[in-house]
Amino acid sequence: MALSDLVARLLSRPARRVVDAPVRSLVDQALETREVPSAAEISRLRAQLDDRTRDLDALSARVDGLAELVSTLEQENRDLRAEVARAHVPTEPCAVEACTSAASDGAFCSVHEAAWRGGELDGHVGPDGHVRHGDALLRVQTALAGQPVVVTGKKRLTVKVAGKRVSFRAVT
Ligand SMILES: [Zn+2]
Repeated sequence: MALSDLVARLLSRPARRVVDAPVRSLVDQALETREVPSAAEISRLRAQLDDRTRDLDALSARVDGLAELVSTLEQENRDLRAEVARAHVPTEPCAVEACTSAASDGAFCSVHEAAWRGGELDGHVGPDGHVRHGDALLRVQTALAGQPVVVTGKKRLTVKVAGKRVSFRAVT
């Protein structure tokens, strides 16, 4: 039996004084049995829904705030990276022309620095001013150590260090 039918029947009983309270009690009972929420329950649910909505709004605001924070932190990170890049001492390339490495402490990269210190780097004045030219070993001023050197000639040698002719003596 539909709820409305039950109510209609209760209210339309002829020649019988229908007491309001029992009817309402019956309706309430019927509503309860059918698990239909009462007005009070609906009102409570509405209040709960309002609370949830407020909670969601608050959460949404917090998420927005966090997104903003993340964005700010990302920007700061980029700024710091740029600052570090600017602060980094620009490295000179290795003095050996064919080499693509950056110079370490001196004029050469670590590999060529080692070769130079070992007297095995052609084209540059050695650490103690030695210049190798074929089988001959020449010597220029020690102050020119590490500079690029070009030796030309056969009997009369010409030694140019960094493009300038310099005096030398034959060691061997
Ligand atoms: Zn190098």
